[in-house]
Amino acid sequence: MSKDQTKGQTSQPNIKDGVSSQGGAPSNRSPIPEDHQEAVNHAGPLRYFAKQIKVFPRRVWGKYRKIKWLVMAVTLGIYYLAPFLRWNRGEHAPNQAILIDLYGPRAYFFGIEIWPQEVFILTGILILAAIALFFVTSMFGRVWCGYTCPQTVWTDLFVWVERFIQGDRNARKKLYDAPWSLTKIWKIGLTHFLWIVIGVFTGGAFVLYFNDAPTLIQDIIHLDASPTIWGFIGSLTLSTYIMAGFAREQVCTYMCPYARFQSAMFDKDTLIISYDEKRGEPRGKHKKGTEWGETGHCIDCTACVQVCPVGIDIRDGLQMECIACGLCVDACNNVMDKLELPRGLVRYDTTNHMEAKVKGGDEKFKFIRIRTLYYGVLMGLVGGLMLYYLLTRAPLQLHVLHDRNPVFVQLSNGDIRNGYTIKILNKTHEARTYTLSVEGLDNARIDVKSAGHLDAKTIHVGPDTIGSYRINLFASVKPAEARDIIFTLQDNNDPEIRAEYEGSFVTRRER
Ligand code: SF4
Ligand code: SF4
Repeated sequence: MSKDQTKGQTSQPNIKDGVSSQGGAPSNRSPIPEDHQEAVNHAGPLRYFAKQIKVFPRRVWGKYRKIKWLVMAVTLGIYYLAPFLRWNRGEHAPNQAILIDLYGPRAYFFGIEIWPQEVFILTGILILAAIALFFVTSMFGRVWCGYTCPQTVWTDLFVWVERFIQGDRNARKKLYDAPWSLTKIWKIGLTHFLWIVIGVFTGGAFVLYFNDAPTLIQDIIHLDASPTIWGFIGSLTLSTYIMAGFAREQVCTYMCPYARFQSAMFDKDTLIISYDEKRGEPRGKHKKGTEWGETGHCIDCTACVQVCPVGIDIRDGLQMECIACGLCVDACNNVMDKLELPRGLVRYDTTNHMEAKVKGGDEKFKFIRIRTLYYGVLMGLVGGLMLYYLLTRAPLQLHVLHDRNPVFVQLSNGDIRNGYTIKILNKTHEARTYTLSVEGLDNARIDVKSAGHLDAKTIHVGPDTIGSYRINLFASVKPAEARDIIFTLQDNNDPEIRAEYEGSFVTRRER
């Protein structure tokens, strides 16, 4: 190695197009990758829409590629197989571990059951997921985009299929530019056929989350599924085919709002993909075993550009399109290995860490900072509140709706009658019997109506259902506008299970 490692001093990466405003030396090179330059040259004087440049990412091996394969296998495995997991909830509830039952209507997640009245839990989950995303982004940059975002995972899978049939980058480019022939037809045709098959499986797996999976699969196989099911499978097949087959990096660059506002979570201690300009420049060709002369470690082989799934040149600085997938890091590390130079010319690094290295220091990574603490506390708060609710949620809920017309009726004996509709949510998986009582009215009498008249002490509600009853409340009271009362529902077999509802008893006005 003729060039010593101290050449590896760093500078602030040049960050463009709104990803970060961390400053740094402006690049003196064109921000337009070589592949894109031709299209720009032919673009004419003024165009409002950029021509889509087809990207042919080259195959690469390395640590981050392995992580991406692993994440892809795990996430796709969960997505396709999770509907088949079973969870015993007894005979009165479905046994699918993850199910959104729109007819129930309920959402099931293993031991957790969410009723429509508890839709705020889903809101809480979304808020928690958003804060978790901010938390991870503030520490590790766009790792969500590069590794786990569905758009990235499915695009990776589609590119793998494309590469498997059509070959690596050069072969695919050649095939793309070649006139139509039998070879081109079968290769392109087979690629698109397999993409559509993946799309069908993707749409098919999605609908399984809303139905009993084994039953629905039988229905689909025997063509007995409803038009709604076919509609969802068709539209998801189409969207998967278009997004992962054609739109690809355009989704990340133009459609995804997260790419636009993520800079708010970045600071100088956030991990970003960084090109070590001090070490790499001036770039130039180099033959292994020869003297380095004045050139930097970047031999301008463009391996980092060729593997990039969004078609950018990271040596021009961090750009908004970069999804932090780390494939350019793998590509450059492989080149450095061949040249017997230290790895890390392109690497995950933070601005502060790089600046410290330039000054000769060795600043440590600061993952725990005010910003990350703030997100962490928020996450803990929202997660804690949700957990508290789930652990202490009542297995019984009572809702009472006063009749609007008539508001009250005066009987011939002078008593006042008020009508109500009560809804009893029995969240347990057993049939229950309850006693309804009223506080705040002396000598009140409750008449419960369903198919026949019921005793207020023996109101039956089936397992995991809502019981709806009409009740009349009779009382002999002095005239007043309204009285505050409390309806109480007590489980007959479990003193711990009890629900209350504040209501009113309306009488005629005093004249
Ligand atoms: S892979 Fe490394 S050496 Fe090759 S062009 Fe990119 S930065 Fe330079
Ligand atoms: S520049 Fe590197 S990290 Fe960014 S998208 Fe391209 S290959 Fe991935």
